[in-house]
Amino acid sequence: MNRDSLSVETIICPNCYAELSAAADVCKHCGSSTSGPAGKAAWNTPRLRDKPWLMTILVLHLGAFGIPLYWKARYPRSVRLTIAVVSILYTIFVALAVAWGAMQIWRFVEMTT
Ligand SMILES: [Zn+2]
Repeated sequence: MNRDSLSVETIICPNCYAELSAAADVCKHCGSSTSGPAGKAAWNTPRLRDKPWLMTILVLHLGAFGIPLYWKARYPRSVRLTIAVVSILYTIFVALAVAWGAMQIWRFVEMTT
């Protein structure tokens, strides 16, 4: 989907992140201008990616493979770095858990045959 078509209906205030009509020049919540360069950058980023719960689901499903995706989110660098590190640790943990599970099954098969 074209990013420009996404931004037609609503925009995000660059100052308070309130959802506004695309026609609004000034935020009705904090009064800051929505037409500045910061505002443009903010609504070029798909909003769904910036929701913490979505980020959690992504980390749980993609693990370390989703790092390029987390990196594009509108978070401070330190937060994105934390997400990347957590996803790597999570991926290692899952890999170990799968290996451990496979070993238990292998032992069980060896015992019964
Ligand atoms: Zn605002």
